[in-house]
Amino acid sequence: MRIGIGIAVFAVVLAGSGYHFVIGYVVPTNINDKITVLTRKNVFAQIGANVVVYEDAEGTVVVDAQLPPLAALTRSHIEALVTKPITTVLITHWHPDHSGGISAFSSDAEIIAHENAAQRLSAPQEGFGLTKPESHHQFAARSADGLPNRTFVDSLDLQTESTDVKVVHYPVAHTDGDLVVIFPSSQVAVIGDLVWPNSFPYVDVHNGGSVAGLEAALKELLAVSEPGYRFIPGHGTPLSFEDVAAYLDMVSRTRRWVETQLDEGLTIDQIAASGLADEWDQWGSSLVPASVWIKMIQESRSVQSTVKR
Ligand SMILES: [Zn+2]
Repeated sequence: MRIGIGIAVFAVVLAGSGYHFVIGYVVPTNINDKITVLTRKNVFAQIGANVVVYEDAEGTVVVDAQLPPLAALTRSHIEALVTKPITTVLITHWHPDHSGGISAFSSDAEIIAHENAAQRLSAPQEGFGLTKPESHHQFAARSADGLPNRTFVDSLDLQTESTDVKVVHYPVAHTDGDLVVIFPSSQVAVIGDLVWPNSFPYVDVHNGGSVAGLEAALKELLAVSEPGYRFIPGHGTPLSFEDVAAYLDMVSRTRRWVETQLDEGLTIDQIAASGLADEWDQWGSSLVPASVWIKMIQESRSVQSTVKR
């Protein structure tokens, strides 16, 4: 892997694309000699999702493909970083900040996603609005070059003599088509949006996600890893095993508390008005404040995935 790619600064606004933002600059984080995380930022925030690049003797594996307008730019940043061709692009879930750039890779790489994510990408979708339907966005069905060309249902082993990559599906978590990519020999797991750092989780209950499912996924993730592992989320910086364990504890205890209140007959408005205990204050964020998290827990109880899992 070439050393560093520098920090490229762009100040271009993509007018007319539906995505109006400053493109910003890329910050690379080297995890080890094979794995680098590319994070796009502007002065205010991260733009889109992290892109993880893994290079070994056989080729380059990429996890997640950024927003649609950044497709070509993302590919050029990856190619500036590696010497081996991009052979595989894994998509953690269908949300456009993770899957939008598929078209830049689909002519010459294997694009892998969970079957449910592929189904959602091939049809119009609505979502991203958390618990506020009025803020939902509409997403058109992808054209053929924007779709995965290989799918799986439970798990997928990409292990070869020199490549050490495992792909696992945790049903009904952030969405119903989440995959986690594990690089066992590096003790690294790329976890998409299963953890939303420094915030209550964002669970896309309108697209098959569920809080109970997310909790189960985090438990399984910790069971297949061990202290020393690093977990790369879709947004934010790498997390430790202990960070993920603390996150699971927060998800589990707040979910149980809200469900107990519901079982005792309180309305969602009453529960939201009394709020969570002070010990959870640090997890409230502008995207998912405690009131939204409480509502997600309630809405998750009725989630039924409509597609095969
Ligand atoms: Zn997401």
